[in-house]
Amino acid sequence: MTTSGENNRCVLSIGGLDPSGGAGIIADVLSIRQMGAYPMAVATSITFQSSRGVSGRYDLSPGVVLRQISEIFEVCAPDAIKIGMLGYAGNVSLVSEFLDLNFNGWVVVDPVFRSSSGASLIDDDGISVFREKAIAASSLLTPNVREISTICGFPVTEIADVKTACLYLERLGAKSVLVTGVRKEKGGSSEALDILYDGGEFQIFSSPWIDDFRVRGTGCRLSSAIAAGLARGESLKNAVVKGRRYLRNEVERLKSSDFGVLENGGQVLQ
Ligand code: PLP
Repeated sequence: MTTSGENNRCVLSIGGLDPSGGAGIIADVLSIRQMGAYPMAVATSITFQSSRGVSGRYDLSPGVVLRQISEIFEVCAPDAIKIGMLGYAGNVSLVSEFLDLNFNGWVVVDPVFRSSSGASLIDDDGISVFREKAIAASSLLTPNVREISTICGFPVTEIADVKTACLYLERLGAKSVLVTGVRKEKGGSSEALDILYDGGEFQIFSSPWIDDFRVRGTGCRLSSAIAAGLARGESLKNAVVKGRRYLRNEVERLKSSDFGVLENGGQVLQ
């Protein structure tokens, strides 16, 4: 096994395939490439979806997922790994245990539980095993406020809740946590706050709230962009700052384009 060269840092994304490219491993690959790293992708589940929503999913077996990961690791260990949709307990266990045994680099775990259209992307058993194993396998966990509420079992809406929740996650084995999407009203406008807990301190990043729910895969893109920065040797804080900037530009670009089916020049069928 070799590691990738200085100028060709690679990020492996492990997650679900959204064939329309709006979320999941296709969105991850685009973001990783745009952030200057080489992308690799392992599918855990084939989802059936488009810009109209998710109509179902077909989870791959742990054996099929393991075979994809093992073949990559036999030739080249990635510089960072990003975990997205895992689908069910079998693949949550497989991926968490594999990484525990075989990987020492950055592992960015983005909890994927539900699509923004409301479809379930993981079973209840999968969420339990996620709590037991995936959090401890992560070096950075990137939940939004809904996901962190599900993991912790109490509502997380305010900055004070985020702090309590991060300390709870630390007891479950989290090393650092970026909580996204805390909404705060300020002087007649809304701010979007993301809060980073690095295992010692809390840091708050703020930007104007963008009310465009048509852009899918924002969590996928942010966590992948951060993983690319970490693979390239950035500090955690810098990778978060650059990842947030990247996501903002992408959302602005996508919301003013016909991004429904294909982002890069495709036509939306009405
Ligand atoms: N499908 C896959 C494969 C995903 O990984 C995700 C989110 O991570 C989604 C769908 C949901 O995306 P959204 O929340 O933008 O609907």
